[in-house]
Amino acid sequence: MTTANTIVSNIAAIQARIATTHNLFHPNTPQPTLMAVSKTRSAAEIRLALAAGAQHIGENYLQEALAKQSELQDHDICWHFIGPIQSNKTRDIAEHFSWVHSVDRAKIICRLNDQRPPQLTPLNICLQVNINDEASKAGAAINEISALAELALNQPRLRLRGLMAIPANTRDPAQQRRNFAAVRELLHTLRQRFPEAQLDTLSMGMSGDMESAIAEGATILRIGSDIFGPRAVVKPD
Ligand SMILES: *Cc1c(COP(=O)(O)O)cnc(C)c1O
Repeated sequence: MTTANTIVSNIAAIQARIATTHNLFHPNTPQPTLMAVSKTRSAAEIRLALAAGAQHIGENYLQEALAKQSELQDHDICWHFIGPIQSNKTRDIAEHFSWVHSVDRAKIICRLNDQRPPQLTPLNICLQVNINDEASKAGAAINEISALAELALNQPRLRLRGLMAIPANTRDPAQQRRNFAAVRELLHTLRQRFPEAQLDTLSMGMSGDMESAIAEGATILRIGSDIFGPRAVVKPD
C-alpha cells in the first residue's frame, strides 16, 4: 500500500500541475475537476486521498466499488463509475453513483434511466467515444454519438453532460493533443445540434496525458497512478 505521505504529496503535486497548465492555456476559466481513480486501491487509501482534498472518486469495477462505498459511508464523496458496463450491472450503478462516464450504447442508456431511483437527482452521464476507432477499445463510434446523445437527452432520469474518451496510447504530446482536440470538436458539434442541453463536460486526461487534455479543454481529469502509485494488476470484475 502506498504510504500516507506519498498520497498526500502526490495530490499536492497533481493540483500544482493542473493549476500551472490550466493557467497557461485557459486563465480566467474554472479549473478542471480532479477525479482520483481508485481501482484496485483500498478504502484506507481512498481515505488518505480524501484527507488530502480529493472529493471525486472514480471506480471501474462494480463489486469492488460497492465494498469500498460501504466502508466509506461516513464521507461525503461524489462517486463516478468509469468502467465497462454489463447490462446486468446497471441497477447497482444507477443506484450507487452520481456520474457514469462509460455509457456507449442505447440499451445501457435506457436501463440506467429506468433504474435511477426516483428519490435521487438525475444521473449525470457522459458518452464514451472511441475517438481513434480502435478495435480493442470500448466506446461508441464517432458516427453513433449524435443518435446516442439524442436518446440520452430524452431520458428524464439522466442528465447528459458530455463526452469521455481514452485515446490511443501515445507519449507524443502533439498526437495526444490531436486526439483530445477531436473529442472537444465532437462535443462542440453536439452543442450546436442540442443547444438547450447542458453539455459542459469533457472527461479526458489520465496520468500520462493530463497536460495535453487540459490544453484541449478537459473539465474532468481521471488520475490514478500519479495519485496512488503504479498499479500492479488490473483485476476483472
Ligand atoms: C485506470 C483509469 C484511469 C486512470 O489511469 P492512470 O493512468 O492510472 O492515471 C482513468 N480512466 C479510466 C477509464 C481508467 O480505467
